[in-house]
Amino acid sequence: MSDLNGIIAEIKRCNSFLISVHVSPDGDALGSQLALMLALKKLNKTVIVHNLDPVPEIYLFLPHAGAIKTGRPVTGRYDAHVVLDSDPARTGLFDGSYPADTLINIDHHVTNSSTWPHTWLDPVACATGEMVYKLIQQLGVPIDRDIALCLYTAIFTDTGSFRYSNTTPESMRISATLLEAGADPWLVTENVYESFAYRRLKLLGSVLSGMERSKDGRIAWVVVTDELYRLTGTTAEDTDNFVNFVRSTKGVEVAVLFRQTGAAQYKISLRSKGRVDLSGLSQSFGGGGHKNAAGGMMNGTIEEVKDRVLSEINKAISAQLGGGDDTIHGRRP
Ligand code: 5GP
Ligand code: MN
Repeated sequence: MSDLNGIIAEIKRCNSFLISVHVSPDGDALGSQLALMLALKKLNKTVIVHNLDPVPEIYLFLPHAGAIKTGRPVTGRYDAHVVLDSDPARTGLFDGSYPADTLINIDHHVTNSSTWPHTWLDPVACATGEMVYKLIQQLGVPIDRDIALCLYTAIFTDTGSFRYSNTTPESMRISATLLEAGADPWLVTENVYESFAYRRLKLLGSVLSGMERSKDGRIAWVVVTDELYRLTGTTAEDTDNFVNFVRSTKGVEVAVLFRQTGAAQYKISLRSKGRVDLSGLSQSFGGGGHKNAAGGMMNGTIEEVKDRVLSEINKAISAQLGGGDDTIHGRRP
């Protein structure tokens, strides 16, 4: 579904907006959210930004990050509710009924199955920030320094600093425009990639020293337990991007991060080097995402969750690349 024109008409018509993004918000979600807030305010709209989870420390430098409300419940009624960078349900804020008549969903995830009347999906967009850039342009709002910084952060983070395959000539052109509008690239880099808490690097050391891989070397994984968080004084926020270190191993096609989220519950992050498509695989256990980056949640002990996920990955690798590792359950580093 592609309803950009309908969305523009609704934005012009409506006066009060609630903008939300997914749980565990990332740079794309937050940058898109704040940029759209700033643009709508320039059109004299009333805007509330509200997410379930707090803004991670590394994104607090984003202009007006302090305006984002968090937790449940969301109060008030709005003309329009805009959900960015995920399916509407993944905001985790509502149980099926929303505080607005006009429902707008803008996202670039190929697994988004939104049934909202005003849905604009563009899986080719490198980031939701790229879509919000186009939307803001079509609304005729000039891109000032703050909006540019938010959108540049969205694109910079979701393209892995312009390294991933979603980096396109268009995402580079838009980014150039954002730099011209005043976005400071080092400000973004320093906050997002050069200001890690000491505890986070200690946790990374522990986690990587426990890395394992399948016998054929095509799958590698790490586990972060509640116990490890406790020992290092860290939280889930400190594990952001850990899975990319695992993927960087030579010969690895799919990397997995298992992160404990409850007594018998794990969050799964998957990364592919591009030859194995993860979007279908992640849906097989109720998650979603992109071809090369996907995730989900699973209940069970770590052994149960690992066995299920690793054997699904092994199946996908065999089907998509041939070969296979029958010894996956008898894994040895
Ligand atoms: P991450 O591993 O960074 O949490 O997520 C990687 C990608 O997978 C992101 O694009 C994210 O939107 C998607 N993803 C992660 N977890 C889930 C989930 O539980 N459900 C869905 N639908 N997508 C997810
Ligand atoms: Mn995104």
